[in-house]
Amino acid sequence: GERALVNVPEAIETVLALIQHKLGTGIGVERDFAGRAEIRCTPALLNQVVMNILSNAADAMPEGGTIRIATQSSEETDEIRISDTGPGIPEGLREKIFEPFFTTKPVGSGTGLGLAIAYSVVQAHSGVLSVETAPGGGACFVIGIPRQAVDA
Ligand code: ADP
Ligand code: MG
Repeated sequence: GERALVNVPEAIETVLALIQHKLGTGIGVERDFAGRAEIRCTPALLNQVVMNILSNAADAMPEGGTIRIATQSSEETDEIRISDTGPGIPEGLREKIFEPFFTTKPVGSGTGLGLAIAYSVVQAHSGVLSVETAPGGGACFVIGIPRQAVDA
């Protein structure tokens, strides 16, 4: 797709509005947009990546919780960090979750494609999608896009 300079906070608000029904009233959203506001990417694809990660965060917190979305920039990289207060991802699954069709959800409720798609999209932007443990033990997904992205 066509790359453009995308305003990250605006893109995130767009996606949050689209999945508001999944967040319900039990999941709060905190924003910390401290990094550079814009990244060069394909707008619809960035939305898809953020959507897939937020959708998983909602699934991980059926009893409610908090999603924190932060932007952070260094000299070379712009990052979007999305963390939740769910159970987190066991060390042994951290490689597998990015594989197509890997899911721990009941048959019919998860395709296992969300993170595989997100991973490919970020890779096509010469970036890296990784997962860490959030403070408190939840999952923290980090989308890292190099400033001078080279088309894949
Ligand atoms: P699906 O959501 O259809 O299962 P995904 O590719 O989106 O497929 O995610 C794969 C798996 O990664 C999930 O089934 C779940 O086990 C794990 N996962 C993803 N995000 C989270 C999260 N925020 N907290 C806990 N586990 C997660
Ligand atoms: Mg998913």
